[in-house]
Order: sequence, then structure tokens, then C-alpha cells
Amino acid sequence: MTTTVLGYPRIGADRELKRATESFWAGGIDAPALDAVGARLRRTVWEALRDAGIAHIPSNTFSYYDHVLDTAVLFDAVPPRFAGVAAGRDGREAELARYFAMARGADDVPPLEMTKWFDTNYHYLVPELSPATRPRLAGRKPLSEYCQARGLGMETRPVLVGPLTFLLLAKPAADAPPGWRPLELLDDLLACYAALLDELGAAGAGWVQLDEPILATDAGRAALPELERAYARLGRVAGRPRLLVQTYFGSIGPDAVAALKRTAVEAIGLDLVTAPDSLRDLAAVSGLGERTLVAGVVDGRNVWRTDVPAALSTLTSLLGLAGEVVVSTSCSLLHVPIDLDAETGLDPALRERLAFARQKADEVVLLGRRLAGGEQAPGAGAGWTRAAAPVPASFVDQRVRARLDALGDAAERVDHEQRSAARAGSAASAAPPLLPTTTIGSFPQTDEVRAARAAHRAGGIDRTEYERRMRAEIDRVIALQEDIGLDVLVHGEPERNDMVQYFAEQLAGYASTRHGWVQSYGSRCVRPPILFGDVSRPEPMTVEWTTYAQSRTARPVKGMLTGPVTMLAWSFVRDDQPPAETARQVALALRDEVADLERAGIRHIQVDEAALRESLPLREEDRADYLTWAVGAFRLATSGVGTTTWIHSHMCYSEFGRIVGAIDALDADVTSVEAARSHMELVEDLAAAGYRRGIGPGVYDIHSPRVPSVAEIEASLRAALRAVRSDRLWVNPDCGLKTRGYAEVEPALRNMVEAARRVRADL
Ligand code: GLN
Ligand code: ZN
Repeated sequence: MTTTVLGYPRIGADRELKRATESFWAGGIDAPALDAVGARLRRTVWEALRDAGIAHIPSNTFSYYDHVLDTAVLFDAVPPRFAGVAAGRDGREAELARYFAMARGADDVPPLEMTKWFDTNYHYLVPELSPATRPRLAGRKPLSEYCQARGLGMETRPVLVGPLTFLLLAKPAADAPPGWRPLELLDDLLACYAALLDELGAAGAGWVQLDEPILATDAGRAALPELERAYARLGRVAGRPRLLVQTYFGSIGPDAVAALKRTAVEAIGLDLVTAPDSLRDLAAVSGLGERTLVAGVVDGRNVWRTDVPAALSTLTSLLGLAGEVVVSTSCSLLHVPIDLDAETGLDPALRERLAFARQKADEVVLLGRRLAGGEQAPGAGAGWTRAAAPVPASFVDQRVRARLDALGDAAERVDHEQRSAARAGSAASAAPPLLPTTTIGSFPQTDEVRAARAAHRAGGIDRTEYERRMRAEIDRVIALQEDIGLDVLVHGEPERNDMVQYFAEQLAGYASTRHGWVQSYGSRCVRPPILFGDVSRPEPMTVEWTTYAQSRTARPVKGMLTGPVTMLAWSFVRDDQPPAETARQVALALRDEVADLERAGIRHIQVDEAALRESLPLREEDRADYLTWAVGAFRLATSGVGTTTWIHSHMCYSEFGRIVGAIDALDADVTSVEAARSHMELVEDLAAAGYRRGIGPGVYDIHSPRVPSVAEIEASLRAALRAVRSDRLWVNPDCGLKTRGYAEVEPALRNMVEAARRVRADL
């Protein structure tokens, strides 16, 4: 029985990749030095997999920034604006300069757009294609990485983004004619893949893995004729390696399996963790015949140990459905931290239930051996089972469960219109003027603020000193906002390292890791907390900071919380109960926090759901369900307040499409969204969809250091007023300000307030 993994973390155990690329960008190291780090990181990964006993080791899973970007560069799908980027430099320096310019921009050349890789927290760069794109095999990366491994005595399987996934993830360049689709480049691109397969075959590669996760989406399923055409074509390449078409993140359906079966591909890979019903798809087409099935039974996206008997029984049921079954991970291990052995500080009861990338490779090997004949890996035992490891009592909180049962839906509030009326008639409602100005929560995180947090964590300063420094920061931020003339103020979030981590550290049922870094994009890594048990709130989490801020001003201060969906989306979440149930527990803890804030006199409370849209399931048929529980959790968190308290929500995106109804259903009084870049079209969409609550379409883009002028903000506001009633329009930037500097934030906010004043004067 053979074994493989679909990919491995590439950042290095000490985030060496981050340090090397950032130093390269800053001019600290040159191209040969960077390449040496890359070569070392690749070697470490291959050796780790070899030493674990993995039979088929993948290669070309390394990247300096992103594997989709690598694919675009490999096939010369580079927009013309990058042609001049490295003028004056040559060779490898020029190559890398152009590569990183596509990822990060250079001088006046904007980068490619970045977006989420399916429903994960990894981001890829979106290729821009047009009829003028002339794909050609322009690089040697897969080949040279294959040869590097071979030189080290390891035979590997190069991994490529498949042609269908590449084209369906790409977008038409701005100059492409309307209606043109990147898929029209399929035949040109297939010629490039064919040339590459030819080279890899000549170099000795026995297998190549072509990743087609797009087949788990509706877009992929709608392109089955193209899928079949593509693999029929690649199947005909003479002298090619054997082909594995690998899918993940969901089921691909029997029709896709059947389409692939009509081609000459030798192996098909399925994700049996996310989509256990893939078994049914296989049975529906009477299996794969002589082909190999790569069976993803070890979860590549979450941190829990594999239930070995359960996985074995899945594997056993597959045996008759393919010529050979290869034990594998459900997707690349890119999405989990590298090594649990580095986490010495975790509660042992939790630790023994976890597996990171290295441990997952061991699990794959163990499963392979057990399946081959019951033989066990030396010293590895029979493998972990859920049944033999009952949930520790410390993970369970019956009070939380009982309270949720008693609350039921508890999601009803007095109707929005009545609340507006109640607020208008109440002195305590802190009713702001028309077109109220506000911000999304965070203010710039200065070096002093970061240093104070770090010193407190390391024990360099005590709690009293830490609080003194944070309060001084809040004083500054409040005074600045008053001076600028904002209407609804914030405390600025100086005490928060991250909007999820901050709450996770204070909630029972959550654990934080010390080294559990995962690549988010390029050199940016995150350390998602682990939600392992019933969630509750031992103590108020934000009340002290918020009330302190409120004590420093007569204007209303807006309390700031992270919503249940976002708390789940940016964590590793327990998989022993439905996420809907876990979200309700988080919501209950937030409901308590909301109540405490209200009791402490806070009249505006914002619950951020930055991840509501990005967590939308890949397939249309799963979306209604998700939106129901997501909205329910938000309402559970926020519906306990009285009629005069304002509930705000914030979302970091502007393409609502069909989720407008869900945003309305949140029943927030005001929702702020990203709109600066879509020129207020969003407001029109919302109005057209019958949205009738407060809306704060971001009037400028905080992702850029550019300071918007009064005139352009004024124009945006007037445009918004064509679609929304003046008593519903709020004025704010499009996201938090923590990544910006005061040099930009202050003038931008002053211009925003001035623009609001000018428009208000005409109402
Ligand atoms: N309140 C958070 C902030 O301002 C919201 C961040 C976000 O939406 N990503 O930083
Ligand atoms: Zn945001």
C-alpha cells in the first residue's frame, strides 16, 4: 500500500521564508542568497516526508509567494504592465523583481488582485488574462525542483495547478472585450502543459499531480466538457509521466468522475474528509477500474488527530473501487502548522488530540501500513481513536449547553423602524446628526503600542504599567477624534494583537499556540487559535477599555466585538459537532459581553463579521443553510439589547451578490462595508434589494496610503444619497485603520468629516 501527502507547509519551522523574502525586498540579501534559502527549505520538507516513510513525495509545492502566481509566470501569463518593472537589471534579479512586483506592486505598477483560495484562509494572486495573452512554457520551476530532489536521491511527483482550475480562477484583464472568458485560452494553455509534461517525462518523472480543486465548485462542475477535453489532450502526450488529477475541498460529483474516467489519466484524487459522499460518487460510476484512487482521509485543513479505525474503514470500503488505493491527506498540508512537537505549552489533554503537518504525515504512513496487512509502524501503536479518547470533562460546560437550550432562538428584536423611532425620542440614545461620521474600530498601531504589548507579554512591564500605557493611547485617540470632529468615537483597539486572537485568549474553550504559524499570503503568516471545547466567557473582555474611553468624552463611544462567524472562520474549530452549534456558543459569550457593555452605558456596539461572506460554502446548494446559522448566531449575540442601543456590524467586502438578504436579516441598525473601490454601486444594489437599515459604505480605501480629497469623498456621499435616504447614510472609511500611519489617517479623516459637513449643509 502506498502513501502520499498533497503538499506541505513551505514557510519553514521558524518562518525562514518570511524572513528571507522580507530581507530580499529590503535589499538585505541578494537573489542567490534567497535562492539558497529556498533550496534549503525544499530539502527540509522532502527529507521530513522521506523520514516519515511517505512513499510518494510531492515537489513543486514550494513557492516564494504563491503557487497560482508561479503558474502564471511559468506560462508567461504576465500582464504587459510588468514588462518594464526590472528595467536595468537582468538574470535572476530581474526575474525575481518582476515576480514580486506581480505580488506586491512596484512604484506605479499595481499588483495582481489577491483573493481567498477557495474557502480557506490562504490567499492567491488572481491571474489577469486577455485574448492578447500568449501562453508559452516560459519557466523551469517544476523541472528544476524535481531535479533538485533527484540530486538528493529522492524521486518526487511534481505538483501543478491544473489547467481548468487556473483558468477558472483567473479574471479577464481590464482590456479584454466584454463577455470574453479566460477559459477561451484553454487550448493554448494545454499546449504549454503538454510541453511541460514532455520535459518532466524526459527528466524521468514517473508521476505528475494536477490539482483541480475547482471541481468542488459550481463553476468547475459547469465546465465538465472542458475538463474532459483537457485531460483527453494531456493523456495523449507521448512519453509523459502518469497523471494524477487531484481534487479537494468538496465532492466533485459522479459526472466529473465519469468525465475523467473517459480520459487516459492514471489516477484520481478525492477529498473524503470534506466530502465523505465522494464514496457514493465513486460507486455511482462503478469505481475507477484499473485506475489509482488517491484517498484523502487525513484532514489537511484542521489540526485534529485522525480517528484511525474510522479512516481504515473508509479505506477498506474503497478497495474494490479502484486498481490501487493510495492513502493521502484531504488537501495540501499548507493549511496547518508544521510541528506539534514545538508546542510544549499546551494542555496535555488538548495536545494529545492534535496533529500538525508532521504528525499527519505519520498518520498517513500508519494508515498505509495498517491497510496493507495490519502491520503497525514500529512504536506507533494502533493509532488514535476517538472512542478510546473520550472528550475530557474539562472541555465540556453543561451550563453553556443548558443556557443555550433555554434561550432557544432568542433572536427577535423590536422592529428596526420602531427602534429608530424609540431612539429619536430618547435622550439616552446619543442620537448622532444626519450623516454621522465614525470609524471601523482600530486606529494605527504605533511602535509604542506594539512595544507595550510585547513587553507586557514577555513580563517586562507589569499589568499596572501596561494599563497606564494603553490608557494614555486611548486618551490620545479620543482627543484626536474629538478634534477631528467625528460623531461616534472608538477607543482604537490598541490592546488587540488581532481581532480573533484577542477574544480567543479570553474565552474558555479556546487555546492559543506559540509556534502554530500558517501562511496567509506571501510572507504574511497567522497563528489561528484552536477552538476545542464548549465556549464561555469567564469575565468581561472589552468593558474596561470601552468604558474608560467613554469616560474621556461626552460623545458616544462605540464598543467593538468580533462576531461568531469570524471567530470560527479564523480559528481551527472542533469537528465533533456542527459549526452552527459552536457558533451559538460563541454568540452566547458575545451576548453576555454586549449586555455588559450596554449596562455600562455604551450606546453603540459593533459586532464585526469580516468573514461572513468569505465563509460562504463553495456550492450554491449549501449556502442557504450556512446563512441561516450565520445570521442566527449574529442575532443571538446582539438581540439582547434594549430599543435605544445601536447595533452596528461591519464587513470587509463589497460584493454581496445574493447575500444582501442575509445582511438585512442580521437586523443590525447600521452595517459598514467596503465600497470605496466599487464607487458606491453597492449602495444602489442594496437599495434595489430593498435594504432599509443604516448603511456605511466606506468612503475611502484604507488599503492604500493615499489621502482622499474632500471633493472626492463629497462626490461619493452625494452618489450614495441618490440611492439611500439621508437618515440611513453613515460616513466612515472602509475598514479599520490599524495598518496605516497617522500621517495619512489624520488628514484623511479630517477630509471625511469636512465632506460630511458640506453634504449635510445641503440636506
Ligand atoms: N474593528 C476591526 C478594526 O477596525 C475590524 C477589522 C476588520 O474588519 N478586518 O480593525
Ligand atoms: Zn473590514
